[in-house]
Amino acid sequence: MTDLERHDYDVIVIGAGGAGLRAAIEAREQGLRTAIICKSLFGKAHTVMAEGGIAASMGNANEKDSWQTHFRDTMRGGKFLNNPRMAELHAKEAPMRVWELETYGALFDRTPDGRISQRNFGGHEYPRLAHVGDRTGLELIRTLQQKIVSLQQEDHRETGDYEGRLRVFQELTVTDILKSDGAVAGAFGYWRESGRFVLFSAPAVILATGGIGKSFKVTSNSWEYTGDGHALALRAGASLVNMEFIQFHPTGMVWPPSVKGILVTESVRGDGGVLRNSEGKRFMFDYVPDVFRGQYADTEEEADRWYKDPENNKRPPELLPRDEVARAINNEVKEGRNSPHGGVFLDVSTRLPAEEITRRLPSMHHQFKELADVDITAEPMEVGPTCHYVMGGVEVDADTAATSVPGLYAAGEVAGGMHGSNRLGGNSLSDLLVFGRRAGVGAAEYIAALGDSRPAIREGDVDQAAETALAPFRDASENPYTLHQELQQKMNDLVGIIRREGEVREALGMLDDLDERAKSVGVEGHRQFNPGWHLALDLRNMLAVCRCVALAALERTESRGGHTREDFPSMDPKWRGINLICSLDDDGVVELKHQPVPEIRQDLLELFERTELAKYLTEPELARLDSGGP
Ligand code: FAD
Repeated sequence: MTDLERHDYDVIVIGAGGAGLRAAIEAREQGLRTAIICKSLFGKAHTVMAEGGIAASMGNANEKDSWQTHFRDTMRGGKFLNNPRMAELHAKEAPMRVWELETYGALFDRTPDGRISQRNFGGHEYPRLAHVGDRTGLELIRTLQQKIVSLQQEDHRETGDYEGRLRVFQELTVTDILKSDGAVAGAFGYWRESGRFVLFSAPAVILATGGIGKSFKVTSNSWEYTGDGHALALRAGASLVNMEFIQFHPTGMVWPPSVKGILVTESVRGDGGVLRNSEGKRFMFDYVPDVFRGQYADTEEEADRWYKDPENNKRPPELLPRDEVARAINNEVKEGRNSPHGGVFLDVSTRLPAEEITRRLPSMHHQFKELADVDITAEPMEVGPTCHYVMGGVEVDADTAATSVPGLYAAGEVAGGMHGSNRLGGNSLSDLLVFGRRAGVGAAEYIAALGDSRPAIREGDVDQAAETALAPFRDASENPYTLHQELQQKMNDLVGIIRREGEVREALGMLDDLDERAKSVGVEGHRQFNPGWHLALDLRNMLAVCRCVALAALERTESRGGHTREDFPSMDPKWRGINLICSLDDDGVVELKHQPVPEIRQDLLELFERTELAKYLTEPELARLDSGGP
């Protein structure tokens, strides 16, 4: 029997970003004994890095805003491949989740009359992002952590134990979900510092592990984002949906090389910043696609007037959804109109007074001064696309966040469907709160229905999980760092922002080779803090997830949102009806299937003009719409 530390809970939440914390708060408030586990320090998650804000149609900056408008913008941004029920729940519930944060103690920036201020962002028709300067994620995490501490204090008053109902396990990585008779029974992991194994028994596990960006060379993501939750779900028997859709944010830093990929928030453009090429041209006017013509300005004069008078002017094309802007920058660079270090110029210095820039964008000012010795109040930034967010993810039920595996839930970036083929900025923070809460409720209802019959962990499965985790100590022929670097470079080059059939096939060949070599990946030393060992364990997750990305990227022979095929440059209505689903077959090999996209309800379809729907929907869908429903 494996020597390990054992814990017993009702719910285990894996991940302490916004989704995990909101799920844990809900689970605890529903009376469940809840463990929060995170790979890094508590408070160090992507959520804390979020800059721009939380999208919610509170209507503070423009009272015409409504959940219906937010829903429409989200569906347009996702090019109508979003799970419509998720997009509906998100648009309806986001304002409540933001107001609720205020009751937990969040301090948002205010309008002159004292309401929560809301700023413009790409793809949002009205100013919609509630913000705290450009440090919104920090405030969100601070507030959720504060709520957790207050719940622990309540528990202490009642039971004498702060951690009796809600405990945080930080710097602990989960490597396997354990099941019994097909249902979740617990999770297995290790303390990163000591290497000691830990076993959690619990009938419900909520995955809130965030993204996959560390599989790509140029990324805004930090070291934790190795697709663990996606891979844990796959191995537990759940499926992933539309993994080809990866968001390359248009504006990452391009210089100096050590910081390449670090994010430059979209708020720079939302607050008036413009993109120029080496010829000084505001090139985005040349890249407005047909589906968005009519909503974006044709001239610089009109675009500039929009900031003061949005009612009577159209939006600047710099505020198109991210996929469009990223492709445009990519093309300018490819055609040689690039800045000195291979990006384009993002200029706010000639657009706003210096003191306003330092007030509205303090982190950006600091980031460029410290890392690139650029003063953004006096000179433009150099920017280019960076791998930022994964729209694909664990397939879940919209209302409960349940996966197909009894007891397994997923929320936040690790879950798929909500954002379709492309996420709008600001829609992640709101997604975390809306679906984090729903996952907590879903898990509570599941546990209530179980009664006393909880699945028991089999010791053989624990021994197997320990055996797998220790494998890298047995063979030292392949170095995990070398494999990781090869993977990142190839994913960037072959399955990156622009894809071609031959290159994606080459990537799949590369993955076969890496899979083989990963079997003999080895590390030296002991289990005590051993980053090489940690990476060796993360590698199997990255390899599984990258295979899903590449298989789906090869299969989808169209360009839509975050997936651009040079050999199939247009959006094809035939593909609007198809989700690509990855799961593991009986031999543990990734297989890809087609599945129909959930139908959009008639009342939701009626929120759009028919002429707009005709740009996206298939003929049978349009015929159904015209006949008044199914
Ligand atoms: P995360 O916040 O990513 O947290 C994941 C958690 O899972 C972490 O605690 C991690 O340690 C843990 N974890 C992972 N694997 C394991 C494992 N195996 N075992 C244990 N724990 C594990 N979105 C917006 O809406 N607005 C913005 O302004 C915005 N700005 C952004 C700026 C940057 C620089 C970045 C990178 C992203 C930004 N985003 C923004 C996107 C948004 O921040 C993320 O999508 C979101 O925070 C993800 O939240 P999450 O709760 O799903 O996961």
